[in-house]
Amino acid sequence: MEPAGAPPQGCAPAREAEEPPGSPALPAAAPQGAQPAAAGRERCRRGAGPQGPPGRAVRGRGRRAPGRRGGEEGARAGRRPRVTVDSSKAKTSLEALKISLRQLRWREFPFGRRLPCDIYWHGVSFHDNDIFSGQVNKFPGMTEMVRKITLSRAVRTMQDLFPLEYNFYPRSWILPEEFPLFVAEVRMMKDSDPSWKPTFIVKPDGGCQGDGIYLIKDPSDIRLTGSIQSRPAVVQEYICKPLLVDKLKFDIRLYVLLKSLEPLEIYIAKDGLSRFCTEPYQEPTLKNLHQVFMHLTNYSLNIHSGNFIHSDNANTGSKRTFSSVLCRLSSRGADVKKLWSDIISLVIKTIIALTPELKVYYQSDIPAGKPGPTCFQILGFDILLMKNLKPVLLEVNANPSMRIEHEQELSPGVFENVPSPVDEEVKVAVIRDTLRLVDPQKKKRKDVQCQTLEHVSEANEELLDAGPADRAECDTTQSPEAGLPSLCLKQVFPKYAKQFNYLRLVDRVAALFIRFLGVKGTTKLGPTGFRTFIRNCKLSNSNFSMASVDILYIDITRRWNSMGIDHKESGMCLQAFVEAFFCLAQKKYKSLPLHEQVASLIDFCEDQLAALDEKRLVCGRGIVERRSAVVPCQTDGLHLTPAAPTPLLHRMATASKFSDYRNHRY
Ligand code: ADP
Repeated sequence: MEPAGAPPQGCAPAREAEEPPGSPALPAAAPQGAQPAAAGRERCRRGAGPQGPPGRAVRGRGRRAPGRRGGEEGARAGRRPRVTVDSSKAKTSLEALKISLRQLRWREFPFGRRLPCDIYWHGVSFHDNDIFSGQVNKFPGMTEMVRKITLSRAVRTMQDLFPLEYNFYPRSWILPEEFPLFVAEVRMMKDSDPSWKPTFIVKPDGGCQGDGIYLIKDPSDIRLTGSIQSRPAVVQEYICKPLLVDKLKFDIRLYVLLKSLEPLEIYIAKDGLSRFCTEPYQEPTLKNLHQVFMHLTNYSLNIHSGNFIHSDNANTGSKRTFSSVLCRLSSRGADVKKLWSDIISLVIKTIIALTPELKVYYQSDIPAGKPGPTCFQILGFDILLMKNLKPVLLEVNANPSMRIEHEQELSPGVFENVPSPVDEEVKVAVIRDTLRLVDPQKKKRKDVQCQTLEHVSEANEELLDAGPADRAECDTTQSPEAGLPSLCLKQVFPKYAKQFNYLRLVDRVAALFIRFLGVKGTTKLGPTGFRTFIRNCKLSNSNFSMASVDILYIDITRRWNSMGIDHKESGMCLQAFVEAFFCLAQKKYKSLPLHEQVASLIDFCEDQLAALDEKRLVCGRGIVERRSAVVPCQTDGLHLTPAAPTPLLHRMATASKFSDYRNHRY
């Protein structure tokens, strides 16, 4: 896998964190039209304009003109239709979005629009607006999925299946329910290795910007008083030996575009940001545990240190481009190519851990066959490098800050927002190129060009011989984006699908789960759905009666629901189903490693369901052909969605996974 390194860029500090839900929108700009950068910057001054777009058009089902799409006016006027973007909910990403839209010459609707837009840019969540068409830059359920506890659970499921592949995430325990386990495991590890002197980091669930985080040396130091019950948290092994630059600890914020869930499409930005601590690093001791400027890299914390350096130089300062750090590492002889390949692998594996549950949210919010938008999302990956250059995942942000200015205190209590060139350079490129990748006109243009190509190819066999890559070349030279810089986003999936597809077992379990959900719009499986799954997959027998099936369902569901994850719906959540599935796999295929047991059971279930679908199809045909004939055909009232993956393909993928992985070359 070639590295995605980019040349170093200038650097200046700015707020770099997760966008907290409900954070205020930037002052609204003049509607539509390009403004000079200076005007945009002027608006950054605190109190320089009204907060938020007043009188935004309310959109709703009744107000839509069905079938009317953004850009039609342009088409009617004989011009190429411009892509339309609703930026009324962009919040703090508004400035970067505006610059991107100006560069693309797309049409912005800062106050919303009565007619549908092509793209809706939301600052916080999928649910910011009711949208029934076009594309929106958020997936339903993403915010929930990347919370510290949910992410830890999702990664842990993958660690159970593939411990070696998922060793980039620190060992974690979920509080309060795993507190006894945490205590027991730490005691056991200390007993087996008395020289082990660990440190742990406690992070409140749903927290951001370092909020409520503290370090401990022993499980007994956890602040159980008061808040743990009311505020669950993750406690994690603390990485004591991070890579240092200028004697300082730093982390990396990388931008990742999840362009599509099905099929899975992932892009990684070639440059990101490095956020530095402001006190020289020392390994944790009881004396320095509380020194946040030494241990936590959060910009929002370090900005308050007297040592924080605002610098326009890419190689100095408390915030730098990742590429400048890479240059430094490369000059020290580090294998930067390998580092990039490890980072890409970390990103793909993390997204593979998140997709099963995201698909459950997706089918619930946007059921197949109902009008709804398609989704894409920019994620912020926070990564720490260990001394040996191994990347470690700290967290994933669903709403990474896209601010391109930072606050400066002119005099006590008087603040001014000043532009941050490095943020502008990195973030505008990420937003602009995300838009280029999801450009709805591009698809239309491609279709037209493909048709034209087909025409030409009849007369010109040579062009046909050129193959798909050369055809793509033809596309871009014709493209109206030809004047834009090359994309800063690099596709990593499906590009490297071959190396990673074998990890996507839980995705296939989720496809089974979704099939048996039955009722559209739900995320939990009822007891009848679970029984139908067992019956249709022929998993019950004399050793495993339907009564045992019910007991399994009740036991696991009750435990998951008692963890207080989601009380809105009753029933079995995906994670509980996955646990039940693993139990069944272990029962049925004893003495294999867990991932092989699970893969075998998935194959078995998919085969049973494919046979059932076939039978139903034949029955259906029979009914049509012999209308009055009585056909003994079992039905369970479930929709006949075929299990998503092709069993044969998956079996082949599973069979070849080890050789694929051994031959893993980027
Ligand atoms: P938040 O969302 O509040 O920023 P993070 O998980 O990003 O929470 O943690 C905050 C900071 O703490 C990180 O930026 C990093 O500097 C430090 N940190 C977090 N987890 C670890 C860890 N396991 N080992 C070492 N440092 C960590």
